[in-house]
Amino acid sequence: MDFLQPSSWDDALAARAERPDALPIAGGTDVMVELNFDRRRPGALLDLTRVPELAGWSVAPDGTVRLGAGVSYGRVIGELGDRLPGLAMAARTVGSPQIRVRGTVGGNLGSASPAGDAHPPLLAARAEVEVASVARGTRRVPVADFFTGVKRNALAPDELIAAVHVPTAAGPQQFCKIGTRNAMVISVSAFALALHPDRRAVGTGIGSAAPTPRRAPDAEEFLAGELDWDRRPALPEGLARAFGERVAAAASPIDDVRGTAAYRRHSLAVLARRAATWAWDDLRRAA
Ligand SMILES: Cc1cc2nc3c(=O)[nH]c(=O)nc-3n(C[C@H](O)[C@H](O)[C@H](O)COP(=O)(O)OP(=O)(O)OC[C@H]3O[C@@H](n4cnc5c(N)ncnc54)[C@H](O)[C@@H]3O)c2cc1C
Repeated sequence: MDFLQPSSWDDALAARAERPDALPIAGGTDVMVELNFDRRRPGALLDLTRVPELAGWSVAPDGTVRLGAGVSYGRVIGELGDRLPGLAMAARTVGSPQIRVRGTVGGNLGSASPAGDAHPPLLAARAEVEVASVARGTRRVPVADFFTGVKRNALAPDELIAAVHVPTAAGPQQFCKIGTRNAMVISVSAFALALHPDRRAVGTGIGSAAPTPRRAPDAEEFLAGELDWDRRPALPEGLARAFGERVAAAASPIDDVRGTAAYRRHSLAVLARRAATWAWDDLRRAA
């Protein structure tokens, strides 16, 4: 197996175009599992860890964070908890400290698992994935369109993920996940919520409860329309419950070794109800 190790973004894209049999590797926390279990035998590995352009993050004048694909969960937690609280909360739940040091948000998008923990907060924040190729240059894909099937994404064979663009939080965000224990666990179901008081909107992201991570658009519209954004009274229990039911209705879960479809739906309704209550309470406190 060849080991390609570009030291610039241009060289990485050129290698991707020249060697369609090369599998990109960032932190390797998914790729090495695949190789060790002999699920994949690529002709080459395309190591992206020496590409400086993937390793940083910056903030655009409109406040959007451009997060390089190679930024680890550990750095998201340590450096971006204030700007991207939902993503940082999700990052804190990923694997173990060792996995959070190696694993990257770009790698989570590359794997496109329905259970990827970065995906719900990126959906709730309306993030966009920046992808690039030598032949067609750069394009941006809304994260909701990026997931095309179970562990499938919108990347063309000659493309790499350059970054993900995530708006700085304009209001409270939450992430909750159900698993059999607190760490080193693939989520049975997961939910992210973002309140956008500036435009009186609500963002959602559902994980592990459909073939792809997905939003719950009806639930978003419902809650945004029912919230009293001006006076901000306590969230009525019935409203939180109705929101949870709409989130659960947006899922299409399956029975598998980690949980039944019925449990996933039920747990999503509970997670969404709690997340809405916590986020709304945070907004009331901030007023
Ligand atoms: C013990 C353990 C626990 C884990 N726990 C969790 C968890 O709690 N939650 C969770 O979501 N995940 C978990 N994972 C899975 C994994 O850590 C994450 O999916 C992580 O984000 C992968 O990032 P990486 O940088 O290691 O990706 P890699 O393994 O390097 O790559 C993953 C995929 O993305 C592709 N890729 C990587 N970078 C790019 C790029 N720039 N452009 C195009 N394609 C690219 C690769 O080709 C590969 O297909 C766990 C894994 C392990 C081994």
